[in-house]
Amino acid sequence: MAIDIGDKLCGSREARIGSVTGYWGTLQALGKECSTEGCPGERRRCFSQASSCPATCALGQLAGINDAAIVHHSPSGCAATAMGVGSNLDLLAGALGRPRNHFGYTCTDMKESDTVFGAIENLKEVIRETYVRYRPKVIFVGASCVSGVIGEDFDGLIDDLKEELPVAIAPVHCEGFKSQIWATGFDAAWHTVLKYVVKAPEVKSNKVNIIGFTQGLSWNARADVKELLEVVGLEPVWFPASSTVEEFAHSSEAVATISTCSTLGAYFGVGLEEAYGVPYVRSVPPHGIAGYTDFARKLAAVVGKENEMEAYLDKDLAKYLPQIEKVRKELEGKRAMVAMGPGFGFNYVRILQELGMKVEHLSAWHFDKQYDDGRRPEAFEYLLEHSPNDFGLSVNDLQNYEFMNILDKVRPDVFVSRHPGSTVWAMKIGIPAYCVYDEYNAFGYKGMLRFAKTLLYIIVNRSFPDNLSRRVRLPYTRWWMEQQADKFLEIAEEV
Ligand code: SF4
Repeated sequence: MAIDIGDKLCGSREARIGSVTGYWGTLQALGKECSTEGCPGERRRCFSQASSCPATCALGQLAGINDAAIVHHSPSGCAATAMGVGSNLDLLAGALGRPRNHFGYTCTDMKESDTVFGAIENLKEVIRETYVRYRPKVIFVGASCVSGVIGEDFDGLIDDLKEELPVAIAPVHCEGFKSQIWATGFDAAWHTVLKYVVKAPEVKSNKVNIIGFTQGLSWNARADVKELLEVVGLEPVWFPASSTVEEFAHSSEAVATISTCSTLGAYFGVGLEEAYGVPYVRSVPPHGIAGYTDFARKLAAVVGKENEMEAYLDKDLAKYLPQIEKVRKELEGKRAMVAMGPGFGFNYVRILQELGMKVEHLSAWHFDKQYDDGRRPEAFEYLLEHSPNDFGLSVNDLQNYEFMNILDKVRPDVFVSRHPGSTVWAMKIGIPAYCVYDEYNAFGYKGMLRFAKTLLYIIVNRSFPDNLSRRVRLPYTRWWMEQQADKFLEIAEEV
């Protein structure tokens, strides 16, 4: 179970911690299976739509490091990730005033002949050229299905180039075919960072490693996080978006590691704790009232400043709770469906329930029965104990045809997701949808108020989904909508 940062690979989530991409049942049924049988068995599909891949996830995260470069040893199609991460992360760095001129994303553009003769010499050339053009502090060499299938020797390559280039070359074993769960890519990226970038601590700092996706720029949450940490004498360092190699190298000196999403950050948090003793704060994620309170208390406990934190939380809650209660009255009894990755999914179900809403169904893009320290996800545990109702729970890795069928049956007042590609489909059948893309939109009591107000606005002002649904012709027929969505899973089991 323990993470060994000296290992060559981190392994897939399926093999390491028993994660699955297929399940059909309810919250409590899943909880029972986890308690009695250890984990739900994988239910394979006999039909599957395209999803995402671990390489995209791994290299997308590493692309956040401003002075690192990525060489993707793959056909050019795999490197399509570079388009998205390039522009988004350039904008983020610009907004934060952080230099990014040493970042580059290159690709070896593997061809059919390379699958016969190999392409390691070409890879070396591209690494050399990448170094000359960008002068990065680290070069991450990302794998792909093609380089994996032909068994390109990444580790031998590092030995060949280490005398020649004055920069660390770090292989990222993120071949797409190795895992059906794209979050395995997060782990592959963190494993590489832990093994090749993080250095042993020299001094202890007052920093807290904050792992997240968007770095809280859009809601100015950086200021809120800073204020919270100052209460207990700490300072934030944000990873990985717009971070630096130097910041990662010193992450082992931090007081603690926290993550807005354990699906994303648990491997790094647990790895850093096991290798260098940096405590990983295991709390319900810091969103909504219960999550934020739990998170703030556990962080304060790391430095023994519980009283200071309690006084701060009391003051903050007194400020926002009356306003949250007002909106809560309007939302009371409204019905919702949630579709997200598991970390955020269980989390947002709780937030909606805190607002008095009834959650009818959660579609999670995968399910982790535990993290690498053997603990069950806190947000899942919390719901098992506190959810006022049992609700439908399915696991499908962005299988649109499945959750559209569920959505049409549930017909909630609002659909809450974290991916624009799924919220648009809800609106096409006339269901108001909220894309909570920014992980900080319900951060803290202040964020909870903002989230509740936006949610109410979306539910009440429904003319856009109403109009859209009247004009859109769906690829899904009425016949499909009337089927039982779990049939594909059942058929697969019988085969
Ligand atoms: S690594 Fe494999 S799964 Fe990922 S984009 Fe490339 S070919 Fe597709």
